[in-house]
Amino acid sequence: MPELPEVQAHAERLAGEFAGRVLARFRPLKFTALRTALPAPDDAYGQPLLAVRRRGKYIILEFESVQFAVHLMQGGRLLVDEKQSAKPRGGQARFVFDEGPALLLTEAGTERRAGVWCLPPGEVESSPPLDVLGPDADTVTPEQMVELFARKNQRIHGFLRDQRSIAGLGRRLSNEVCHRAEISPFAMTGKLGIEGATKIVEAIRATIEEGLDDERTRTDMSSSKDRPSAVHRRTGAPCPRCGDEIRAVEYSGYTVNYCATCQTNGKVLADNTTSRFLK
Ligand SMILES: [Zn+2]
Repeated sequence: MPELPEVQAHAERLAGEFAGRVLARFRPLKFTALRTALPAPDDAYGQPLLAVRRRGKYIILEFESVQFAVHLMQGGRLLVDEKQSAKPRGGQARFVFDEGPALLLTEAGTERRAGVWCLPPGEVESSPPLDVLGPDADTVTPEQMVELFARKNQRIHGFLRDQRSIAGLGRRLSNEVCHRAEISPFAMTGKLGIEGATKIVEAIRATIEEGLDDERTRTDMSSSKDRPSAVHRRTGAPCPRCGDEIRAVEYSGYTVNYCATCQTNGKVLADNTTSRFLK
């Protein structure tokens, strides 16, 4: 899933290409694509696109009367659409401008989880789905992080992935941040203190910066296999810091990757899958 750096760089590219263009129509191609009833997208017709920004993993297209929040989920893309064909592959919704190419929201697969929310300007942050988001991951200070840690004692990896604690990180960056901070993905937030919070904040910022530097060199969003990675999706490969083997704890929906030497004092974390077989 695209995370903060990918979404941020994508918003920047779209702003460069589409800012100032006048919206002619917003057309859902699948009935599930538009998730809100009011305000109507029509309210923005005839208005120029003022800005494209990011909040968490959402891309927000700002018009004077409506802000469109777009979530790409796993396989969604917001593509420059020159052809505007009647039945585009994976097409979910289309922003048509008074001239030039359209913007097409597509989603690979059949999950249909990508979507568009029309939000009233001025109430964007307090409206669903953005109202539940924690602060953007790259804006949090160590002191704020300690406060966020104190809300609920939980594994740091789960905390980092939860958009309600901090927004913008997913499975890849959570793996990368823990490795960079040299903290176990299973460390409990209640025990990390200001020292742990500082390490996590520094790791978040460095990891995001690395991702942004890479993503900004591209003309379109990277695919997940091309994103910079020290541990994520590198099970069995050598740790770039110490050379130990990158290990994995498998869950049904994702994999926690880590280096035992760098992060857990050599302790191998229980692999759920393996433990189940051994029972
Ligand atoms: Zn290592």
